Amino acid sequence: MSVLVLVEHDGVHIKDATRATVTAAGKLGEVHALVAGNNADGVAQAAAKIAGVAKVYVANSAALEHQLAEAVAQVAARLMDSHDAFLAPATTTGKNIAPRVAALLDVMQITDILSVEGPDTFTRPIYAGNAIATVRSKDARKVITVRTTTFEKAAAEGGSATVEQVDAGGDPGISSFVGLEASKSERPELTSAKVIVSGGRALGSSEQFHALIDPLADKLGAAVGASRAAVDAGYAPNDYQVGQTGKIVAPQVYIAIGISGAIQHLAGMKDSKTIIAINKDEEAPIFQVADIGLVGDLFKIVPELTGKL
Ligand code: FAD
Repeated sequence: MSVLVLVEHDGVHIKDATRATVTAAGKLGEVHALVAGNNADGVAQAAAKIAGVAKVYVANSAALEHQLAEAVAQVAARLMDSHDAFLAPATTTGKNIAPRVAALLDVMQITDILSVEGPDTFTRPIYAGNAIATVRSKDARKVITVRTTTFEKAAAEGGSATVEQVDAGGDPGISSFVGLEASKSERPELTSAKVIVSGGRALGSSEQFHALIDPLADKLGAAVGASRAAVDAGYAPNDYQVGQTGKIVAPQVYIAIGISGAIQHLAGMKDSKTIIAINKDEEAPIFQVADIGLVGDLFKIVPELTGKL
């Protein structure tokens, strides 16, 4: 069985989620990687070094410069003539591209897999992770997104794959790049951070959120996350959201501050190795998953904690 993995990259670096996807793909068969971009040969060389990758296809064209999902999906679908499965990380990028590949191949997508049980059988969370479904697909070619927090990342070095240039195709002409407004931060990326400090509605305002959460995160070299309530209230940007409709994270340490622990939030962080919760309500559901709980007023505890670090 040959498996095509989408390499998620920014033109220079490969996102960590790719390496977890390679591990999942390795459980199905021989792993080939697709690098789509413009002048992406450097990324292709880096992909060739990932342990477990046997071949890298690189598609370079101006139409792929911004990796618009429509253009990338077209390249991937063409390569699926010679592959049995297409795997993408269940990140914003992967979730944008994989369904388009599935539609072009006229197959069902298998979403957010947690494990590979066999060549056609996978587990995936349902009901915000409260139940795990085992699904079997009869499609001859599978299109799968992978929950990257449940697979170890393949080593970045150690592989020696061959690199092959492939036809990038034309511009499908159904979408165009208008602009990018990316938040710039010196902090680690949320989905790959070892420590995350997350704030909830209890912070009360954007000013208080940043005044309390940011200094603690900076002392710990942590990424900053937020509950949906905090994001909806405008205390934190959208891309900070952790949970069912936000990012799925599993850091070594997750510090939940003024977050109640609604199931939709837990769905995004309950696999964290150590969970620390600060909440004034000792009945808050977050304490059911917390390894360490501090019951008290965050406006007192957090500055004290930051000061002592
Ligand atoms: P609250 O539930 O209001 O909790 C605030 C907590 O702060 C309380 O526990 C309170 O005791 C504590 N507190 C208050 N003051 C203090 C103080 N001074 N010191 C210490 N503690 C204090 N939510 C997500 O987070 N992520 C998602 O991806 C997500 N997706 C959703 C998808 C769907 C379809 C739906 C229906 C909901 C989703 N939600 C999501 C929303 C979720 O249900 C909750 O509403 C949300 O997580 C609550 O955020 P919160 O814990 O910050 O706020």
